[in-house]
Amino acid sequence: MSTSFLYHAFGLPGYDYVRQEFVGGNILLHVRPKGKLLRCPCCRSRNVLHRGVSQRWLRTVPVGFKPVWLVVEVPRVGCTSCGIVRRIELRIAEPRRRHTKAFERFVLALTKAMTMLDVSRLLGVGWDVVKDILKRHLQRRFAKPSLAGLEYIAIDEISVRKGHKYLTLVMDLRCGKVVFVGDGRGADSLKPFWERLKRSRARIRAVATDMSAAYIGSVLEHLPGVAVVLDHFHVVKLMNDRLTEVRRKLHRELQDKMGKSVLKGSRWILLKNPESLNPERQEHERLQEALEANEPLAKAYYLKEELRQIWKQPNKAAAAAYLEQWISSALTSDVGPLVKMGKTMAMYRTGILAWYDHPISSGPMEGTNNKIKTLKRQAYGYRDQEFFKLRILGIHEAKYALTG
Ligand SMILES: [Zn+2]
Repeated sequence: MSTSFLYHAFGLPGYDYVRQEFVGGNILLHVRPKGKLLRCPCCRSRNVLHRGVSQRWLRTVPVGFKPVWLVVEVPRVGCTSCGIVRRIELRIAEPRRRHTKAFERFVLALTKAMTMLDVSRLLGVGWDVVKDILKRHLQRRFAKPSLAGLEYIAIDEISVRKGHKYLTLVMDLRCGKVVFVGDGRGADSLKPFWERLKRSRARIRAVATDMSAAYIGSVLEHLPGVAVVLDHFHVVKLMNDRLTEVRRKLHRELQDKMGKSVLKGSRWILLKNPESLNPERQEHERLQEALEANEPLAKAYYLKEELRQIWKQPNKAAAAAYLEQWISSALTSDVGPLVKMGKTMAMYRTGILAWYDHPISSGPMEGTNNKIKTLKRQAYGYRDQEFFKLRILGIHEAKYALTG
């Protein structure tokens, strides 16, 4: 070991090698700052006098599996310019931390390829140390994402803790980054976002959202006149729910066992897109059988299929005409859940057709939601709410969210 080895292998410029020790499987490297590092920590003056030394132990990058500690002789100095007496500042570590910045970079690189638990086991440090390093990194990078230049956004909610707790996310649709995580759901959860958006002076052109009156109301209150695009994934999902309602109702009312079993077996087939039906499992035949036996179910099924065509029209005018026809078929279907869906579609027609002016959707949010689900599965994932939110804000950088 030598001063130049310290410099080249450990990235420690400005330190002299003093001696090495091997204690209980640890490598201890005693080092001393060179004279040029002697500055006043307050005013940076070089006019300082020695006032003794103290020791600081810093964990740094390992050699193989061996933990390495830098034992730094930290001089205390008295400043002749500003009069303060204090330990000099070490650039190689943050104040009050027990590891070097190099160690932090090493930990961060490892967390990209392993779970936090793996990293803590590999390095022989507590899980909380790894978490603390990651959390401070996320705070520096993502605590306040810039909203300047934001144009197209999607708003959606996610459930944390099985429906007991919600978070509201806002995504920048140009790059897929989550730019805001609000507590709860509904209009209140968006308040801090609107405040920050106002300060950023961004000009939002369109917002994709689901058919939540609370979100839409909040958007129109803060961005009057903005185009609100009702996300077609959510519309299709709502229709699927209505179809399921029709099937359940029929199932309850049916007396004969044969009919019941036909209906029961059709559950997933009804919701599938026709092009993905599986011929090997006779899904076409089973679908036909269920539809022929139940007229309301057939109506619901065909309306569901026709609904998808709203977004496949050549232009907005054609789509408007198609949508009107769809609404009137639903309203005259004489099937409760379908009439309800017809009314919903009529109420939200502007937002549905707005897609033709701004073809956006919260589809990209789905990919993020899947990553968040993985994040949630980890035991420590959301015990620390702030850490959980920061991880969501940085999730676009994780190729996949690691658990553990
Ligand atoms: Zn000073």
